[in-house]
Amino acid sequence: MALYGVVETGGTKMVCAVVAGPDDIRAEVRFPTTSPEENIPQIIAFLAAHHAQTPLTSIGIGSFGPIVLDKSVPNYGSVAPTTKPFWSNAPVVAPIQAALGVPVGFDLDVTTAALGELTWGAGQGLHHIVYYTIGTGIGAGIIVNGQPLPCMMHPESGHQRLSRNPLDTFAGNCSFHLDCLEGLAAGPAIEKRWGTKAHLLPPDHVAWEYEADYIAQAIMNTILLVSPQRIILGGGVMEQLHLFPMIRRNVLSRLNGYINTPAILDHIDDYIVPPALGNQAGMLGALVLAMRAAE
Ligand SMILES: [Zn+2]
Repeated sequence: MALYGVVETGGTKMVCAVVAGPDDIRAEVRFPTTSPEENIPQIIAFLAAHHAQTPLTSIGIGSFGPIVLDKSVPNYGSVAPTTKPFWSNAPVVAPIQAALGVPVGFDLDVTTAALGELTWGAGQGLHHIVYYTIGTGIGAGIIVNGQPLPCMMHPESGHQRLSRNPLDTFAGNCSFHLDCLEGLAAGPAIEKRWGTKAHLLPPDHVAWEYEADYIAQAIMNTILLVSPQRIILGGGVMEQLHLFPMIRRNVLSRLNGYINTPAILDHIDDYIVPPALGNQAGMLGALVLAMRAAE
């Protein structure tokens, strides 16, 4: 049986595992995200120890962004310049591939989660889906024909421009754009606007009307630009499940009948959905990357 190495590099923690399939995790380790000088050798040490016992077929890595995905440039597989301390221009794929000597698949964390949901979760049976994560930050994985959207680098859907709710006086929280989607609707923006953590706000708080409005605008833009077969909303903020009906109503009202498909007009409950894989989406998506890298 083939064994794969899977890696999730996150803003706060790294998860590495050796897996034989989506339900067959053989070993797993987690450590705090610090610097590439510390974390990359930790990842290699874990994978190499297992590789020495039973060879790994390939490795899949889902990484926090921004990352370099253009295979024609020498720094493919590294972290792009970022405000995150220590990680700007850090190579990720190259040292791991050099140490293990097997194919390595690599993509953005949210794209990786989208691939996991497409293969084993809420996107099964479909070909074109968008997965938004709405938590500490906001991003979207766009899958077209079963593949991450080929592009210049990767989409940065969390920074799209929205119309402000006229009652919202919060300046916004994005260090680049102030009141983009992430600056208005990510967890830290909610906390800063209302002075309390999002999950402590009651379901009838006006905070959720603003939130549903901003997310619905992003979904409307996504439907108009990409026309996916389904939109999956994950991340910490979307654990507030009462947001789903509010967002669906808002999307229908904003589209105003313009997109005349049964999926939107008759089955919006099946069109805008929560993830099916929970916090396993990233790990399972990294397995998809590993399997595809081995093909
Ligand atoms: Zn922004």
